[in-house]
Amino acid sequence: MEKVSDYFGCFVFDDRVMKGNLSSEVYRSLKKTIDEGAKLDISVANAVAEAMKEWAVAHGATHYTHWFQPMTGITAEKHDSFISPSPDGRVIMEFSGKELIKGEPDASSFPSGGLRATFEARGYTAWDPTSYAFLKGKTLCIPTAFCSYAGEALDKKTPLLRSMEALNRQAMRILKLFGNEQVKCVRTCVGPEQEYFLIDEQMYRQRRDLMFTGRTLFGAKPPKGQQLDDHYFGVIPPRVEEFMEDLNQELWKLGILAKTEHNEVAPAQHELAPIYTTTNIATDHNQLTMEIMQKVAARHHLVCLLHEKPFAGVNGSGKHNNWSLSTDTGINLLSPGETPHENAQFLLFLCAVIQAVDDYQDLLRISVATAGNDLRLGANEAPPAIVSMFLGEELNGVLEALEQDKPYHGAKKTNMKLGAVVLPKFPKDSTDRNRTSPFAFTGNKFEFRMLGSSNSIACANIMLNTAVAESLRIFADRLEGAEDFEGELHDLLRETISAHKRIIFNGNGYDDSWVKEAVEERGLTNDPTTPDCVPRILEEKNMEMLTRHKVYSAPELHSRCEITLENYCKTVLIEANTMVDMARKEILPALQSYMLCLAKTAAAKKNLDAGIACSFERDTVTALSALADEIAEKTEELEGATEDAETKNDVYLQSRLLRDVVRPKMEQLRQVCDEAEKKTAKQYWPFPTYGELLFGV
Ligand code: ADP
Ligand code: MG
Repeated sequence: MEKVSDYFGCFVFDDRVMKGNLSSEVYRSLKKTIDEGAKLDISVANAVAEAMKEWAVAHGATHYTHWFQPMTGITAEKHDSFISPSPDGRVIMEFSGKELIKGEPDASSFPSGGLRATFEARGYTAWDPTSYAFLKGKTLCIPTAFCSYAGEALDKKTPLLRSMEALNRQAMRILKLFGNEQVKCVRTCVGPEQEYFLIDEQMYRQRRDLMFTGRTLFGAKPPKGQQLDDHYFGVIPPRVEEFMEDLNQELWKLGILAKTEHNEVAPAQHELAPIYTTTNIATDHNQLTMEIMQKVAARHHLVCLLHEKPFAGVNGSGKHNNWSLSTDTGINLLSPGETPHENAQFLLFLCAVIQAVDDYQDLLRISVATAGNDLRLGANEAPPAIVSMFLGEELNGVLEALEQDKPYHGAKKTNMKLGAVVLPKFPKDSTDRNRTSPFAFTGNKFEFRMLGSSNSIACANIMLNTAVAESLRIFADRLEGAEDFEGELHDLLRETISAHKRIIFNGNGYDDSWVKEAVEERGLTNDPTTPDCVPRILEEKNMEMLTRHKVYSAPELHSRCEITLENYCKTVLIEANTMVDMARKEILPALQSYMLCLAKTAAAKKNLDAGIACSFERDTVTALSALADEIAEKTEELEGATEDAETKNDVYLQSRLLRDVVRPKMEQLRQVCDEAEKKTAKQYWPFPTYGELLFGV
């Protein structure tokens, strides 16, 4: 078998390929664009396009596409072939710099939230040279941003790049204050841990709820679930192992640093984590990872479920966004340093994050809001919908000492006067004990754990980057004017800790008492559902902040709000309609057949004239008949509520109606159906049960 190091990145037009296939002059200009955002000359673009095409064609490619991330949350592509007619009636393979830099897909079918007037259906895609082009099958994919003709972002990548730029700008101001002259830029890095379920394809095809909505809408609890905790880090079943092997190979060929894989808590649940990289690349890679997981699963007759809550009563799937800030010179700004000077800088960045998370809790919550994630957040395996931070005992001690101007009794007894302290290094295990916190410091990075498994990580990082940029801006404004820098910094940190310590919580986030304490005593925001939180994006403080850093324009924010709610509504409506359909067309007929069988059996037994009691048949038919009536009734009710919600044109109203009326009715229908399932013989139940789905691989 081939060595991984031989084929790693073989489908990527990466630095090595560029160096080998571009003239040194072109390579240097392109590098300047990639590293410093310098404008790209069309002659350079032409040369890059030519080299890309030659490389792609040599690898069997016939087409190219601009690859972008519209607000649907998945990726989009429109393929064009390289062929161009030549005068002799044949074709040549062509690809110009113009085609590389800009594309004009018909964008009218992508959600725009009213941004793109219908008469101007075109949007355009613009090359993002910082993310490498790659090959998918016979197609050269060029990572791009997607905008309307008026320049409004129609995708998730554009605001992400803008947020990285905003953070870079403000962090550079701070680094200057600390006298870091060599640093040219600051980037955020992300390593997203991705959870998913694998189930058998045959079974999947028998469940229309899974096929239409990605989750089970019915299903009684199996006798065995995750009670024994025997799946977590357990032995990986051979079929899954083959899948993982295949998946890793595909990811490695695309230069994706897939690193860790293991079973998760729930049966059939697994996790994959890559090695962290620059945020926009990590985002592209995570989108690709999700796509390839599904493709590779199909090859193994498996289905990869990325839904946040595919099974009730079993853990859902999330994504942990490990986030840090680092300089182009390789310094992690969230890593406590060796010297007092470095420590002061570390504490400033730490406080900037604390302030950002407290001030913009609502935006972080919004960034993970989907109908699917609402089912997971606050359930007992996931952080609550309330944002709080965990820093660990040691760091807490440091901040407390700093706030109260007291000595810090940590590993070493030290005075907390800034400029004189040497902070202890925080070993990972001393900081990572709390697994229930939505936002935890883990030694040299923060782990944001509220993301749903199917979320694009772009949104969370846009909000996080921009909120931190805002804290840094406020800090820089104050410190740049200071006469006594050290004194001002000391006051700034103390005031920040004191003003924002309410967001720090080291207890158990899964505990009910936390919700009460968070909301009533600390005044933190608790928005359990998408319809609650999303409209807050339009609150003045949020609009002001996001537009100030030019991450979103006001119309773009209105469009995001609209699209997120619209997506919520569509999702719940599909779920409700699927339930109605399955109850009527599958569950009720199945119950009828089973009851008929029981009734016939009882009648036949009676005919024997042997005085047989038939109590099982009689009791079961009686119970099932009552349940069937109830199912029919609840189905009618759900259908009525759904139809009523469907007539509402206002997404705000519709989303609340779906949450308050339709979802509870779905739950009621499910309960009676699950009850009926428990009483029905296996061969009569119309689709695979939880036990079969979860333990079928
Ligand atoms: P866990 O204990 O949560 O499973 P790991 O330490 O294995 O975590 O790391 C999880 C993820 O965090 C990986 O994707 C890893 O690459 C990423 N990670 C590690 N260090 C950093 C960092 N400095 N910045 C961003 N992500 C990081
Ligand atoms: Mg983790």
